[in-house]
Amino acid sequence: MAIYQIVKIGDPILRDKAKPVTKFNTSLEKLLVNMADTMYDAEGVGLAAPQIGVSKRVVVIDVGEGLLELVNPQLIEVEGEETAPEGCLSIPGRQGNVKRASRVKVRYQDRTGREMTIEGEGLLARALQHEIDHLDGILFVDKLVKE
Ligand code: ZN
Repeated sequence: MAIYQIVKIGDPILRDKAKPVTKFNTSLEKLLVNMADTMYDAEGVGLAAPQIGVSKRVVVIDVGEGLLELVNPQLIEVEGEETAPEGCLSIPGRQGNVKRASRVKVRYQDRTGREMTIEGEGLLARALQHEIDHLDGILFVDKLVKE
């Protein structure tokens, strides 16, 4: 078990487009396990690899319904609209309202490379969109809406 240092806003890696994972090996497994440990340690509901300084398309999420590991996730369907407050482990102490789709469908691969899909709404939909944004160098503060 290892806890990574979380990269904070201002670090250029948070603005890079992360690279797709092509090797499903033990180093990917280790990355996923350590990312989950780091997320739980920081009491977050999601963490993207760029946030620990690794520019790969890897995300972990747990909104209280169990751990999700998503490799190469992409939004394939979005529906509805919902504005709610968000925060980010890379932007400590800051919260703000962001408009997101209220329901999403995401295609991804699991740690073995198997193709999977997941559908989510509410907080899960929000976490999926927030974390996938990280993989494209987008932070929630880029999307703040005024009330
Ligand atoms: Zn974040």
